[in-house]
Amino acid sequence: MTQFSDLGLSQPVLQALDLKGYSTPTPIQEQAIPPVLEGRDLLGIAQTGTGKTAAFMLPAIDRLRASDNNIPFKSCRMLVLAPTRELAMQIAASAKDYGALAGLKVQSIVGGTSVNKDRNKLHRGTDILIATPGRLLDLIDQKAFNLGSVEVLVLDEADQMLDLGFIHALRTINKLVPDNRQTLFFSATMPKSIKELVSGYCKNPVQVSVTPESTTAERIEQFLFMVQQDEKQALLEMILSGRHETPGELERILIFTRTKHGADRVVKKLSQRGIQANAIHGNKSQPQRQRALDEFRRGKTNVLIATDVAARGIDIPGVSHVINYELPNVPEQYVHRIGRTARAGKDGVAIAFCAEDERAYLKDIQKTTGAELDRLPLPDNFRAVVEGVGPTKPAPRGQNRVSSKRIKPRPTGASKPRGEGGKNSGVKHPDRKGKPGGKPGGRPGGGRPGGGRPGGGRPGGRRGGGGGRGGNQGGGGGGQR
Ligand code: AMP
Repeated sequence: MTQFSDLGLSQPVLQALDLKGYSTPTPIQEQAIPPVLEGRDLLGIAQTGTGKTAAFMLPAIDRLRASDNNIPFKSCRMLVLAPTRELAMQIAASAKDYGALAGLKVQSIVGGTSVNKDRNKLHRGTDILIATPGRLLDLIDQKAFNLGSVEVLVLDEADQMLDLGFIHALRTINKLVPDNRQTLFFSATMPKSIKELVSGYCKNPVQVSVTPESTTAERIEQFLFMVQQDEKQALLEMILSGRHETPGELERILIFTRTKHGADRVVKKLSQRGIQANAIHGNKSQPQRQRALDEFRRGKTNVLIATDVAARGIDIPGVSHVINYELPNVPEQYVHRIGRTARAGKDGVAIAFCAEDERAYLKDIQKTTGAELDRLPLPDNFRAVVEGVGPTKPAPRGQNRVSSKRIKPRPTGASKPRGEGGKNSGVKHPDRKGKPGGKPGGRPGGGRPGGGRPGGGRPGGRRGGGGGRGGNQGGGGGGQR
């Protein structure tokens, strides 16, 4: 088995890895580190969770050490561009860990924070800068920063940067960095627009890929409810409260909505039902977003509602379920979303709620990913619940699957919170026991087809802006995310 010491990394970096407790390189690290150390450009097709941050950061740190240049005034030697504030901050934390013993200065700048502070802290320059494109260009426009000394340039989650409308920013940045820099380009997917961007940024890059293009992780079981838009909240509540059984054991649930307001609405309604949840999206302040993520990571809150922008790229261990409350209109986004589960070798479950007017998105998703989503029946009494004549009251305290927190793993043998004791009360799906990748057997697939309600519902009641996206993540405003 390959060891980090076989890859040609320096002693200080190896020591830092020891401190982090990493013993063996992940596949992308194994493939990427040697060519990056040689100075080659790199095109990495990989999602977050594969260890790609270390794959570019470790060899880059060694190259910076080897070139031994001084910290440039109002500039940096290595620039890492990331689409979101959370991802930028996560990369900066890793860079500090990995570079700890190499004596390199690491700084990060993201939108939603004081631009004056950023200007001051970058005045003397830095070895490594991690930035969101919007804030970086703000500082460059103000002549507070320049890219003339960049030796290594990293674009992380490039497909997401394009999705967020950063294409112009990326073109501008490409003109401002020196021609002879090394470029390390990462993207989870490879649509045509990304291929074009790669050819502008990279010179004869070594290509490494750890997930096939646009296919979803094999360890994720994917399911589908056909449900009217205005029935989704009721369905979600039934699932989270244990009144409707779903595959897998609900532990930490990440729910995606298409809009910020949609996310807030879901949180509010869940809290009315006694289910504690937080939201992260572009209208939340940076400290609010960080707090919500920390609570989710620590298991204080087991339900997190997110928009694509806010959740992209962040590494949240232990997500058991991803629920697509609304389907994304870009199929690649579906891949990113469900990739939040099944991390670190675990299985995961993805559940899509598809309304009648989202069928086209569903078709696109299935076509692009090649995945067949397994259709689940709606609860027997579902219509009655939605119309308020069914058992709508919240599950009694302690019987709520999600709000009864599983902050720490239960000791073996301890009983789990259960629902009413009926057939829907079991949290663990019997068929999933010790069965990686398999589908729960015997799903009737039929039930109530499409939740069909003749002439009912509010078809397409709320259709977030699929088009115009706020280009600048940093500002927190604009767009619908
Ligand atoms: P990334 O894809 O860079 O976001 O990394 C995903 C997670 O894997 C992070 O929590 C890293 O700290 C962790 N990680 C990265 N490389 C290794 C490794 N070689 N061994 C164990 N964990 C790792």
